[in-house]
Amino acid sequence: MSARVLVVDDIEQNRKLLTDKLKNEYFHVITAVDGEDAIERALAEEPDVILMDIMMPKLNGVEACRRLKNDPRTEHIPIVLVTALNEREDRLRGLGAGADDFLTKPVNDLQLLSRVRALTKYKMVADELRKREASGKRIGAVDIAAQSRASEPARILVIDENERQARRICRYLEGLHRPISHAEATQLGISGSMVDLMIVSLSNEKLDGLRLCAYFRSLESTRDLPILVVAEPDDEKKAVRALDLGASDIVIKPIDSEELLARVKTQVRKKRYLDALRARLDQSMELAVTDQLTGLHNRRYMRVQLESFVKRANMGGAPVSILLCDIDHFKKVNDIHGHSAGDDVLREFGRRLRENIRPMDLACRYGGEEFVVIMPDTSQALAQAAGERLRQIICETPFPIGRGDELKVTMSGGVSTILPPEDSIDGLLKRADDALYRAKSAGRNQIQTELASFA
Ligand code: GH3
Ligand code: MG
Ligand code: MG
Repeated sequence: MSARVLVVDDIEQNRKLLTDKLKNEYFHVITAVDGEDAIERALAEEPDVILMDIMMPKLNGVEACRRLKNDPRTEHIPIVLVTALNEREDRLRGLGAGADDFLTKPVNDLQLLSRVRALTKYKMVADELRKREASGKRIGAVDIAAQSRASEPARILVIDENERQARRICRYLEGLHRPISHAEATQLGISGSMVDLMIVSLSNEKLDGLRLCAYFRSLESTRDLPILVVAEPDDEKKAVRALDLGASDIVIKPIDSEELLARVKTQVRKKRYLDALRARLDQSMELAVTDQLTGLHNRRYMRVQLESFVKRANMGGAPVSILLCDIDHFKKVNDIHGHSAGDDVLREFGRRLRENIRPMDLACRYGGEEFVVIMPDTSQALAQAAGERLRQIICETPFPIGRGDELKVTMSGGVSTILPPEDSIDGLLKRADDALYRAKSAGRNQIQTELASFA
């Protein structure tokens, strides 16, 4: 997987060294010579990952990192700070400033490539979600502010067979987060999909850390769950392998509590950023296909679905029938009891439809007080029977309209069934509408079926 990497260092030799290593692995490399330059480049070139030196003139790496992470245009770009071995304070300040990871000079090839790859993967998921969200906005779906849970304590599952170490890790995290050991989690029935982060020791024997990384990555419910692995200082190979298998970050033993907390914070922030993007996306997609008053599918969604059923039936697939329903004398409900009572009736009507159709049927609000039920793989006789059943469910039990009042409601319905091989949505709807019109003319509270049918 290739990506655009921005390498920031004031010393030309250092820039060249990193650039060569990355180019060897087919990354596209851009360079900047100090913090200010880095910010300009990041805005102009939109890199996928930034590798940033800390000690630089004009604007140092930590400060540049803070500014990039506080700017909505660049906050999503992962930043790796490149530090000297003994710069522990710098590392902690860097993590505090929002850096996603660290590399120590002299930079080890394996570490460099695995980390750049891991961060690129994260960036691509985030980009995809951001892009879809942007197009969702363009088609007019409502934008809902992310329910940012960034500062809430995280539920963290610690999988370490060494009980002393597991307890120590939990102790470091308590106060800020809600750590839970593997044993407790098993007892409480808490699984990977219910936590915000997992910490896995690579020294485990039974619960092999590498296997766990691969396993959680393979499951839909935990695919994006951040995994922090704890590695022995002399087992770099295993640590790098963990990153390749999808681990999000590494802490090397002996564990430095502040570093652990900083890395946990970064991972949790990333997960919540993705979660918020996803939730926002789901919400706007749902809003785009849902009728707000009744919660049924809206007219736009109905047409999209009907389109594919009609196409399939025209090509010789299963038949599809529809029921077009209209509430009788609904205008009177509004006139006599008020618009809000009318809305109550519409909501209850929608609920009864939804709860009394088969799982494969789709109930949609077609407009005002008209509804369409799409019945895939359903003959005309069956659709007629389903319509009759719904009619009874509507008229048998009065509708509540607030303040304990009730109202008798009836509906009329028209049924039509696909006529392959050249039927259309509009033809199907027109025939259902004609049948509905006959039901109204014949006295309402009844279901009629289209006349011109061979089904
Ligand atoms: P018919 O039996 O012939 O269908 O008579 P009807 O009164 O039901 O039909 P008509 O089409 O004359 O009136 C429909 C009414 O539905 C008019 C409109 O104000 C009302 N309506 C449409 N959408 C809504 C809504 O979202 N809420 C409420 N309360 N009323 C609505
Ligand atoms: Mg009506
Ligand atoms: Mg009407």
